[in-house]
Amino acid sequence: MKENIVLEAVHLKKVYNYATPNAFEALHDINFQVHEGEFVGIMGPSGSGKSTFINNISTIDECTEGKVLINGKNVRSMSANEIGHFRYQNLGFIFQDFNLLDTHTMYENISMPLALAHVPKAEIEKRVNNLANELQITSLLYKYPNECSGGQRQRGAICRALINNPHIIVADEPTGNLDSVNSSELLQLLQKMNKENGVTIVMVTHDPLIASFTTRLVYIKDGNIETVLDKGDMNQDEYFNQIVELNSRESREILAK
Ligand code: ADP
Repeated sequence: MKENIVLEAVHLKKVYNYATPNAFEALHDINFQVHEGEFVGIMGPSGSGKSTFINNISTIDECTEGKVLINGKNVRSMSANEIGHFRYQNLGFIFQDFNLLDTHTMYENISMPLALAHVPKAEIEKRVNNLANELQITSLLYKYPNECSGGQRQRGAICRALINNPHIIVADEPTGNLDSVNSSELLQLLQKMNKENGVTIVMVTHDPLIASFTTRLVYIKDGNIETVLDKGDMNQDEYFNQIVELNSRESREILAK
């Protein structure tokens, strides 16, 4: 069965400080497709363009050349308003540093995407309470982020990412600030969302073990997609070993230069 393409980069180029003496081309000419229901991992050395890539394919940043299609829609042709609405309907974001507002309670943080989309208050309350219950953070809802542990904050951030029932979750080093127990819990939750709810996930990670939960791995180097590794029929162990091998091969190449 040929799955639907939910995310597509076509000749995507990103130049920071475009048309200035400090111009820097962070992504060169990226062509990439994500299919519905995939769990894609993005790896690569620091500074290779992973965050730039994920930001450009998820409306956080705008590419300099080429185009990005989400569910077939060209993001560049949308107004800021349309993009806001589109995000609410399609995307959930999880970041390494959680990106929660310290001046707002967890409840306010989690409900923000719904409030911005003018969802009625009673509906917001129902959805936040249901999801908080599922993620076991009901007791944290009226605490401020700085009163919560790292794992609790990340769970709040996940709750915020899921509150709009997104079709696509974009995660940039989501386990970067978590210990191994919390990392494993987060991964299991993402895997469940992916397998049971069919949510498409694109996740940046530097950790081969975390990457081994994905179904396809993209290795970015110097602003280009260097290698794509499909999990295919491999079990998680075999896939993990291939990911480790890929990373060490790439690291050896960097050392040999
Ligand atoms: P990664 O996520 O792989 O560590 P990034 O996507 O953050 O890499 O960065 C890719 C390259 O683009 C790096 O050389 C980085 O210094 C540069 N870069 C990232 N953001 C900016 C920016 N806002 N302005 C200028 N250069 C940037």
